[in-house]
Order: sequence, then C-alpha cells, then structure tokens
Amino acid sequence: MTIARVALPVALDRSFDYWAPEGLALTRGSIVRVQLARRSIIGVVVAVTSESAVTRELLQPIDEVVSLPPLPDDVLALCEFVAGYYQQPLGMALGLAVPPLGVRRALRARAETAEPPPPIAETPLNDDQKAAVDAIRAAAGTFAAFLLQGVTGSGKTDVFLAAAGTAIARGGQVLLLVPEINLTPQLEARVHNALPRAQAVTLHSGLSDGERRAHWNAASTGAAQFVLGTRLAVFCTLPRLALVVVDEEHDTSYKQQDGVHYHARDVAVWRARSRNIPIVLSSATPSLESFARTRAERYRRLLLPRRADPRAKLPRISLVPNRGEGARDGISGPLWHAIGACLARGEQALVFVNRRGYAPSLKCSACGWQADCPRCSARLTMHRDPPGMQCHHCGHQEALSRACPKCGNVDLLPQGYGTQRLERTLTQAFPHARIMRVDRDSTRTKGAFAAMRTQVAEQAIDLLVGTQMLAKGHDFPRLTLVGVLGADNALYSADFRATERLAALLTQVGGRAGRADLAGAVIVQTDFPAHPVFTALETHDYDRFASDLLLEREAAQLPPVTHAALLLAEAHRRADVDAFLHHAHAAACALVEKSTDAVTVYSPVPAVLARRAGFERGQLVVQSANRANLQRFVARWREALVAPPGKRVRVSLDIDPASFC
Ligand SMILES: [Zn+2]
Ligand SMILES: [Zn+2]
Repeated sequence: MTIARVALPVALDRSFDYWAPEGLALTRGSIVRVQLARRSIIGVVVAVTSESAVTRELLQPIDEVVSLPPLPDDVLALCEFVAGYYQQPLGMALGLAVPPLGVRRALRARAETAEPPPPIAETPLNDDQKAAVDAIRAAAGTFAAFLLQGVTGSGKTDVFLAAAGTAIARGGQVLLLVPEINLTPQLEARVHNALPRAQAVTLHSGLSDGERRAHWNAASTGAAQFVLGTRLAVFCTLPRLALVVVDEEHDTSYKQQDGVHYHARDVAVWRARSRNIPIVLSSATPSLESFARTRAERYRRLLLPRRADPRAKLPRISLVPNRGEGARDGISGPLWHAIGACLARGEQALVFVNRRGYAPSLKCSACGWQADCPRCSARLTMHRDPPGMQCHHCGHQEALSRACPKCGNVDLLPQGYGTQRLERTLTQAFPHARIMRVDRDSTRTKGAFAAMRTQVAEQAIDLLVGTQMLAKGHDFPRLTLVGVLGADNALYSADFRATERLAALLTQVGGRAGRADLAGAVIVQTDFPAHPVFTALETHDYDRFASDLLLEREAAQLPPVTHAALLLAEAHRRADVDAFLHHAHAAACALVEKSTDAVTVYSPVPAVLARRAGFERGQLVVQSANRANLQRFVARWREALVAPPGKRVRVSLDIDPASFC
C-alpha cells in the first residue's frame, strides 16, 4: 500500500501518514487535501513510502490531489531551510508555498492591465546605471548578491528592469519583490513599459484567492516570465528563475510578524544562492544588515550617486524648530510660509506625519486623565472622520469621550497631531487649495489608493497630508515641497532600530520633492537638529550615518553585529506569563552552562506594549555573535519550551526580530 507522509500547516513538529487510494498519482511535493481531526485541510506530501508506524486501520485516506503542479525540489528545500532557520514546523513553512485554495475553479491567468501604463519618457541610462546593469548581467548563472544603492530618483528601477529584460530574453524568469501592495500597480505599469512582450503576473494578498491561484499557476508552469509580488511571492514556484530583485530592501514589511516570522529579503538571498543566480537588493537607505555585508564583501555594492534626470537636483533640506515664531497648530512658522509660497506658485506640497487619526491622545485639562484602551497598555487615538476613539493596537473602538470620567470636566484636549487634524487645520488656512488626506483610513476601499495617485498625477490636488503610505516610490512631478512633522517621536523610541528607520523614512519622503525640472525643498521640524540622523539627511550622506550606526551597534552588541532570538509569551494573567518566562529563562541558562556556544541569555522583561487585546505580554531575548551557535542553541531550547499544562500561555519565537519591543 502507498503511504503518503504529509506536512500540514499546524503547530506540530511532525508529519502525518495517510494512505493513497488506488490510481492517485502522488509524488513528493504533491499538494493534497486530507482530514485532520474531522477538518479538511491542505498539506504537502514530503515522502511517499510503503510503511507506516501507524496501523492500517487507523490511517485515513488522502481525499484529493489538488490540481496544481507539485512543489518542486528547490521550493521544498527552501521551506525546509525556512522551517529550520525560523524554528517553525515544516508544515507551516510549506503552507507559505501553497497558493490559497478557497476558490476551486481555476481562473485563466492574464497579463494585468488594470490601469493603462502612463507614458514614461524613456531616459537613456547614464554611465553609473549602465555599469550597474552590466555587472548584474555578467553575473547571470552564478550566485552573486548586489546591493544597488542609489539616491532617490537615481533610476534604480531602470537598472533592475534592464537586467530583468536580459534575463527574460535568455529564457529565464524574474522575481521582483516589493514591500507593499500599493506599489504594485505603479511598478506593473513600468514593467509593461520596459518589457512589453513579457507576461507579468502579480502576487499579493490584495488579489482574490482565484486570481492568486491563477497567477501562481502561471508562474509555476513557467508561462509567466515576470512575477511582481509582496513578501509571500518569495515562496512561489519558478522553474526558470534567473534573477531576483528585492526593491526597497530595507523595508520592515518584508518581515512577517506572526506565524513563521520569516524575513522575505533574507529568504530571497538564500533562494538565489541555492539556485545559483544573482540577486539585487535595491535601496536608497540600505538596512544595516545589507550595509554590513557590503563592508564584509559578501555583497557587491553598485552605487548610483546621481539623480537619473540630469535636471533634477537633490532637494534642499532645512531643519526648523517645532515651536518658535509663527508656529501654530503643530506647524512651524517657516513651514506655514513655505506651503503658502508653494501653493502661490501653483506647485504641489506634501505634509507628512506618521500618525493617522485626529490626535494620538485625549486628555482632561483639569485632572490629567487620558483616554486609555481598556484592553491594551496604550492610549486611544481620537478620530473625527468618523468621530470616535480607536485603539491602533487592537482595533478597540468607542464613542468620542464628551466628559472626563474621573472628574466630569468637559474640557478635554486633543494631544498632538494626526493626519485628520492637520487636514482640518490646512483646510481652514488655505480654503481655496484642493487638499487630500492619504492614510490607512482614507484608502480602505479597494482602488482608493490608485484613484488618489491618479488625482495627484493629474494635478487635481494642491496639498497632500499623509502618512508613510505616501513616502514610498511615488513620482509626483509637480511636488516641490515636503514638510515633515513628528520626526522626533522616533528619537524617544525604545526600539534600537528607530533611528535607522527614521533615516530611511525621511530620505524616502524627502525624495518625493523635486523630481524633474522643479527644485525641491524639504522642511523637517525637529528640536534636535544636531542629531546624526538629521545631519545625514541634510548632507545626503547616508553612508556616513550607516557607518556610525554600525559602530554604535558594535559597541552595544546589537544586530547586525550579533544575532538575536526573541521569545514572546502572552496570557490573560500576568502571573502565567511570568511563570512561563521564568521557566524558559532557567532552561536557557542551564543549556548555556552545558554548552561551549557563546550565547547570552537576558532576563525576562514585560514587552514594551505590556498588554495587548487583553493579553499580558512578556519577552526574553537570547543573543549570540555567531549565527550557527544561536541556531543550535535555540533548537535545543525549543524542546524545553513546552508551556506548563493548564496555563494558557501563547508563545511565539522570533528569529532575527525586527525590534525588541
Ligand atoms: Zn478629569
Ligand atoms: Zn487596544
């Protein structure tokens, strides 16, 4: 009898045996539907054998072999690596490589033309771009990791699309990863423009299950030559994969925050190495991880120091105090003046603040009470459109507080500025300007973001107010002024990566200004103008900033100099969290004593968000200068990490956590 060993996406470190009914064509990698605890579930066959430790009577049959190509060996190997490295069951990792099967009917893949490509003037590549393209082309058929580091507007996209064109012309497939769904329509248009004959498909969570399955199928049969997708696309079957590109490689959305905590950039590098093909990591502000690897000569750096359009200069940066003369409603005097002048010239301006809602908190002017989330250790954000109080951590909503519940005072004051409040302020100040707010609330409906971009491009908008949704990869040629509010918040953060992220964000958002023949200006409000992050922005010297930051990380023994794993425990009762972490800490210390691997075990601490959605949270970090040491250690430690029976503790293990808080 044929037995199939099936890995299922459940939190168990084992596979399950099923018997295969006569006539069912099974192979390693087959995607199958089976029953587990009376639930129909999709799994992947990891071995076909004739023996099972389970007796025949207790075995269940395979219900169905799904009509999709089996996962090939390289994808199985990729998932095995991911399961091992991120310390998750293989079935969970394999689950990432299987397209959603909600819709049983397969759709025909189509080249997407949701939006007609805008006419893009073909700018010939400059010498820096040509050199970069040549280097990538020359690496065809071998593993080579390139860090394509170019200032904003330097034409990094033209470089990797030119290299992609060559790879496709030679019969290969290209995988391009982008951090956000919102960036895909714009890049899609550029892909069609640059590679008009290639069949391109997208893969992201915004597609319907049927579309995703059809696109996955087109990629896995080799029909689609170009796959443009978000982090989940890194697991897509691509039989003729010849080039991988990770755009905005520093972006934190490449890191999955639940389940298998994989980092799509790192997984992509592993995949390129195992397939023996080149990979291009592209960014204006590379992650310190990638920056350090160019220093160690593991990645080759391709520099684009100039903007591609010779008319376009890098924007002029000014640092101005938050308060001072002329400041009102959160906007400084110089920024008020600059917005007025920009609008008078008939150009576009953008005011950036990374906070949605009206105000980040609401406070009683008499007794100092602030509106807190009942389920989290966090403030409620005040919203006006529609009115209400919202928790941005758990989604809790309640009516707008009218009076202080403590003292009855009705004079409640919004604290700080969110996008809605700035929109209102600017609308009052510039009643004739056409103002648009772009944040998660205003773009909730499908197509809303694309519609907004079109409006901006058609110059139906004078003034934009928005969050980091506006920071990435959008070209607005008439946009000449960017004002940045609230930048100092990051400097108070407990997260060791906060300044690195701020530098990336400011460079990105500043890079929106002055893209063509119009000079751009960026005004950043800060009370710490001497901070290195602002100096780097002012002098457009990211390398110096990154070098200094790397020295700091070295001194503090923080990633990427060291490697970390974070154990997060959550339970309704704090005592259960503490007891579990105490037990995990003791187990870790005992392991360290027995081993020669140099691993540091830190004491358990409450998470920075100590309570979320009714769960008390605590964490424990272990760290090592040697990645292999840490891997060995965590694998052994995990075996000891079984939650005590009866205590409902939710545990997650994050290898290479994006932050420690
Ligand atoms: Zn009060
Ligand atoms: Zn909450």
